[in-house]
Parts: sequence; C-alpha cells; structure tokens
Amino acid sequence: MNDPVLSLSGITKTYNTGQPNEIAVLRGASLDLARGEVVGLVAPSGAGKSTLLHIAGLLDTADAGEVSIAGEALGGKSDRRRTILRRQEIGFVYQFHHLLPEFTALENISLPMLANGTAKDAAETRALQLLASVGVESRAHHRPAALSGGEQQRVAFCRAMANGPKLLLADEPTGNLDPGTSDTVFGALMTLVRETGLSALIATHNLELAARMDRRVRLDGGALVPL
Ligand code: ADP
Repeated sequence: MNDPVLSLSGITKTYNTGQPNEIAVLRGASLDLARGEVVGLVAPSGAGKSTLLHIAGLLDTADAGEVSIAGEALGGKSDRRRTILRRQEIGFVYQFHHLLPEFTALENISLPMLANGTAKDAAETRALQLLASVGVESRAHHRPAALSGGEQQRVAFCRAMANGPKLLLADEPTGNLDPGTSDTVFGALMTLVRETGLSALIATHNLELAARMDRRVRLDGGALVPL
C-alpha cells in the first residue's frame, strides 16, 4: 500500500504553556489521508482547526507527535527541508484569498512556480490552463481588486495548485462567500482536486459542503474522531 499523503500521529499543541491560562488545543490528534482522498474537518470556531492545518502544513510545529508527508517523517528535519516540502508538495487555501494586489491573476499563479525554478513561459502556460479549469481564464490579466469574491477564490485555488502539490490544505475556503457562490466555487475546487488526484483536508463549518467530501472528521477535546 502507498504511504498516506499526510499522516498525523498523536499531535499535541498547547498555547501559553505553563501559564495559568494555558490552552491545550490539540491532545493526540491522529489522521491518515490516503492518496486522492478528500476529508472534511468540521468543528466550531476555536476548536483548533487552523492550528491543526498549520501543523499539517509545516507552518507550525507540534509539541509532540509526528507529521509525515508522503511517507517522509518531519521530526528533526531542517527548516530548509520543511520549506522545500511546503513549496513543492503542499498547497494552501484560506478563507480570504491573500492574492497580491499589485499583480494580475496570471502573475499571482505564476509566482510560486517562478520561485520553484519554472521558466516564465512554462509558468504562464500552466497558470492559464489552471485558470481555464476553474472557468476564469478571461480574467487572467485582471488584478484581484477587479475580480468578484468567487473569482478571487478560484484564482487562489489555482495558485495553491501551481506547483502540482500532493496535498491541499484549506481553511474555510468558501467561508467568505454568500451561500450560492460558495456552492459553485466549492464545486470548482472539488473539480480541480479530483482532476489532479491530490489529497485534501478541508476545514469547514458547512455540513452540506462536508457531505460532498469522501469522509469527515471532527475535533473532540483536541482529538480527531469520525463524524
Ligand atoms: P479554529 O481554527 O478552529 O477556529 P484555532 O486553531 O484558530 O481554532 O484556535 C484554537 C484555540 O487556540 C483558540 O482558543 C485560540 O484562541 C487559541 N490560539 C490559536 N493560536 C494561538 C496563539 N498563537 N497563541 C495563543 N492562543 C492561540
């Protein structure tokens, strides 16, 4: 059997350790995400979803437990190795698009590829293909301020996919959109995920969207349990 694309094992994280107001957010959270699997992370605000996604995405470190990406255990690995894995194997999508305002949609998607050593022509060709796959190729040369909220998120999805990651981590990716737009934009994200065959862990409050994923987990007292 293939290694899971993401494996979290016994992850713990406490903020303000040792202080009277310390917060034990994660207490032994474990999850294996198989190749091509899309899992919904459903929990109320403050339960620790962002903390878990940041640890899974190598943006933060756990107090204890092990994170593995495509079979590579990250414990004790250098910051340089973590940065390379983050850039090449992991795509992030947030509730807000975080596109760079002074660059066009095409440029925003090309930038991570250029940073990864891809030639400019090849990066732009791929950026246009990605934009076409989510139906916004006609907006390629617009800056974010000239795009609707749904279009901005579609561009952010393309940027997350730019370097062909194995793993997509999304934190309330349609949480900032009205319900109708949220539904179609989520559909665009799922199409992109299914076409590329990558694995995704998607935090959402929205049970209807979660129902469209392969399975669902929730955070219960800092551990992950099936929903
Ligand atoms: P969610 O994404 O589910 O809303 P978070 O992971 O953002 O939850 O936060 C979980 C808990 O940890 C909250 O109580 C939050 O206030 C706390 N927290 C998050 N980040 C920090 C931090 N850097 N320092 C202290 N407490 C934090």
